[in-house]
Amino acid sequence: MAEKRDYYEVLGVSKDADDAELKKAYRALAKKYHPDTNSGDATAAEKFKEASEAYSVLSDPDKRRQYDQFGSAAFDGSGGPGGFGGFDFNGADMGDIFGDIFGDLFGGGRSRSSARYTGPQRGANIRTSIRITFEDAIFGCEKEIELNFKEECASCHGSGAKAGTSPVTCSKCNGKGKVMYTQQSFFGQVQNVQTCPDCGGTGQIIKEKCPDCYGTGYITKRKKFKITIPAGIDNGQSVRLAGAGEPGTNGGERGDLLVEAVVSSHPIFKRQDTSIFSTVPISFVKAALGGPIRIKTVDGEVEYEVKPGTQTDTKVRLKGKGVPSLRNRSVRGDHYVTLVVSVPDRLNESQKEALRKFDEAMGGAPVEKEKPEKPKKKGIFNK
Ligand SMILES: [Zn+2]
Ligand SMILES: [Zn+2]
Repeated sequence: MAEKRDYYEVLGVSKDADDAELKKAYRALAKKYHPDTNSGDATAAEKFKEASEAYSVLSDPDKRRQYDQFGSAAFDGSGGPGGFGGFDFNGADMGDIFGDIFGDLFGGGRSRSSARYTGPQRGANIRTSIRITFEDAIFGCEKEIELNFKEECASCHGSGAKAGTSPVTCSKCNGKGKVMYTQQSFFGQVQNVQTCPDCGGTGQIIKEKCPDCYGTGYITKRKKFKITIPAGIDNGQSVRLAGAGEPGTNGGERGDLLVEAVVSSHPIFKRQDTSIFSTVPISFVKAALGGPIRIKTVDGEVEYEVKPGTQTDTKVRLKGKGVPSLRNRSVRGDHYVTLVVSVPDRLNESQKEALRKFDEAMGGAPVEKEKPEKPKKKGIFNK
């Protein structure tokens, strides 16, 4: 038997998590890995079972105490002190949990979790990503992506069986898709439910496979999708294409395609929400005397009048030059510019002379605005 993961770790909660935290964590996992949304996915089924098991123990104060004391050995009958054999993760206890947890999530827990659900099932969502430029994210764009697109096989209408034949009910699981086995252990009987190995959980066996889809019921083709990226999208946000996901089963609708925007960084501009930030160097003469400068924005260059006596690190706000709001593209954020005074480091003799004259005219006084002297911190540098 494989080493069991710690139940707290499985749910991703701390050892002192309260009931609400446990429930929340389990809900999220159960929703993600629920068999109804991951049909045929063995890993998801395993994760679902693992999370359910962890929750069924930790949500019960008595069992949680026992678990904290003895670990999972207290429950799985594989040994260890203080056994509590015969605990059935798929029996009555689970029914209560499902009713409780899935009541509003899947519309009526128990019946759907205990038997193979054969009604229409919505297809899974597909996630992909697309790289766009900084400007494309701000102003929006149209992109095309090509993806594998699964469609129901026209020859067998999704059954996977060769024309003229039809799938037969799996004899190992009697069409349930699951098999239950009972283990006798030192602590009592332990029941486990597994996906049927013969039919892979579908409950049906295809004797003669459809030659067009090799029995899968689906044909995969490359298909192009036009993606409209809205103005103002941020890195990590997704665009949803309804109905472009995996096909549903038994007449269920298709899932959606979710395209995540991966926005490239910009050499000049930084972005936070709807604000844009940049740094613009100005000469110390411009800073002292003032005058017009050109500032690059996402809308092109704009003219800005530097005020005489501008200090380095002065922040300037260019209203409405930021990122459009996703909800309303006519509402835009602002662009914040930091003006940095640059001191020339290579001067020729006549320039140096001019500065010396300037210094003389100033009477050798510091060029900066007089500031009240800050109290010096005591440290190794100022003894
Ligand atoms: Zn087919
Ligand atoms: Zn079967």
